[in-house]
Amino acid sequence: MNITFYGVRGSYPVPDKNLLKYGGNTSSILVENGKNIVIFDAGTGIINIGNYLKENKKSVDKIDIFLTHLHFDHIQGLPFFTPFYDNNYEINIYCPYYSNMSLKSVIYSIFNHPFSPICNKGIRADINFFELNSKKSNGVKIDEHIEVEFIKDVSHPVSGVLIYKLSSENKSVVYATDIESPNGFGSKLKSFINGANILIHDAQYIDSEYYNEKNPKRGFGHSTVCMAVENAIKCEVEKLFLFHYNPNRSDNDLERILKDAKKMFKSTFLSRELNKINLRS
Ligand SMILES: [Zn+2]
Ligand SMILES: [Zn+2]
Repeated sequence: MNITFYGVRGSYPVPDKNLLKYGGNTSSILVENGKNIVIFDAGTGIINIGNYLKENKKSVDKIDIFLTHLHFDHIQGLPFFTPFYDNNYEINIYCPYYSNMSLKSVIYSIFNHPFSPICNKGIRADINFFELNSKKSNGVKIDEHIEVEFIKDVSHPVSGVLIYKLSSENKSVVYATDIESPNGFGSKLKSFINGANILIHDAQYIDSEYYNEKNPKRGFGHSTVCMAVENAIKCEVEKLFLFHYNPNRSDNDLERILKDAKKMFKSTFLSRELNKINLRS
């Protein structure tokens, strides 16, 4: 199983020479497992995933996209994801269930006027929509070897997010972004994540921003680096990847942050665009 970061930034994409090393695209992660293609979130990073698949994975005809929530930085790459315009693809899109809106209408709206000139008829792929309700379902089987489980977290305003855990054979990766846990994960989240090989965790802020007296970031629905580290230790994960960086966080800032984080949890890493992690089963 290969996991590749294509977008690691939070809030909005940032083309800036001081951020080129770790990357400026918004959230999107590719998981490749044999013929199976799973994508977590569809920020601007998904645009390069589309290009990669079309050039290098010609035998792939099914793509499963799991959205944590529908904030713009997690969906803004969709209209530029080239497999949408190719009738060889079946694309399954999963997102949290919202009682007051349909996933299908939200996704189609960003392809249509006034947001885009594309229109529904421009979409050629076969698109299926799945709204995930944690009260009704425990997981999605991608094939007999891969399952994606999910759990709702309500800390991100207004409707919370889904935290996903992809398991294949005896390996697992957890994707937990746009979350805030000043008191650490509760027992439900802890047991969901416990022992994962990889935890990809929101790390938007540092303590001086989160607890800033004049302009605190408390209640914004994001984590500090320390929260990510504490949760990784609590959940006894093998490796922690910091993720969803504040847009102004430079490459130098990130490397300083990593140095401090490693003192608390040695197996902490920075997620970085195009960095591929191989998880052997
Ligand atoms: Zn976000
Ligand atoms: Zn968000």
